[in-house]
Amino acid sequence: MATASQKRELDWSDFPPGTVTDYTRLLCLACIFDIFTEQLGLAPRTAYSEIKRHAPTVEELTARTPQRPYFDSLEKHPRCPYCDSAKRWHARLSTYRIEGGKATDAARRALLKSLPKSEDQFQLTEVKSTRRAVFFEWLEALGRSLDFESDSWLIAATRAFLERTEPKTDWAEVFEGVRQVRRSNRIEEGWQREGSRLFIAPSLYNDVLLVQYLVSRSHKHGGSTFEGRLTLMELVRRMRYSGHLDAQGITERDQFDVLEKLVEHLTGGEGTVKLHYILDRRDFLEKVKTVYARYAA
Ligand SMILES: [Zn+2]
Repeated sequence: MATASQKRELDWSDFPPGTVTDYTRLLCLACIFDIFTEQLGLAPRTAYSEIKRHAPTVEELTARTPQRPYFDSLEKHPRCPYCDSAKRWHARLSTYRIEGGKATDAARRALLKSLPKSEDQFQLTEVKSTRRAVFFEWLEALGRSLDFESDSWLIAATRAFLERTEPKTDWAEVFEGVRQVRRSNRIEEGWQREGSRLFIAPSLYNDVLLVQYLVSRSHKHGGSTFEGRLTLMELVRRMRYSGHLDAQGITERDQFDVLEKLVEHLTGGEGTVKLHYILDRRDFLEKVKTVYARYAA
């Protein structure tokens, strides 16, 4: 039989890698109760029913820098940075962001159906974004997960990009034992595995170079790629001579304009994406109850 904590875990196995992002944030209930009872002068019972209904915004749950009464901590026994309260006053808010689209729609509907409906244990929010914005958020998260000190990040970034581009392929299997990734003119599209080498078709290979350039340019001087460290001018020249710009109908001469077009082509530009946020409020509801019991006592 599954333990209580296992049962609480949501099952993401039907979602392709890279389509779900999770955020964990702590909410200080001592801070919230103080605001409601002391600053707003509500009776504890009224405060309790108000707080129970609290529906955080996506911004509060995912902003880089949390604001009171929200905070982040990786410690086992964190204290509230605003009021110094101990762990028993903190509720854990887990938020999951699903990128909408063909690759996730069926899995998302099945997941939503399986969630308990009572007491607003889960809060759903939909936000519209652009393909470009979502891509750069993905890229930023990817950058945080890579170790730029070792060259193995180049292959890791390639795999992450391919997982995102072709979610139906089992990339864990394809990349098993891969030591080198090469461009191959013998294949027109897709990829081919030979021994410990993975060959990629030229246009896909150029996309990989662009992703490597973009993800590493803030960490290193210029961008690092399978083809070594490249400045923007070198990258653009390479794409021009390999016919990649022609193939995409990019006729701009200025390197920044070319980069802009390449990015638009790679990401889908201003095309709309729906982002589905699922907030798990279960820990919050339980903690609010116990904290109220203390206040009322
Ligand atoms: Zn606090």
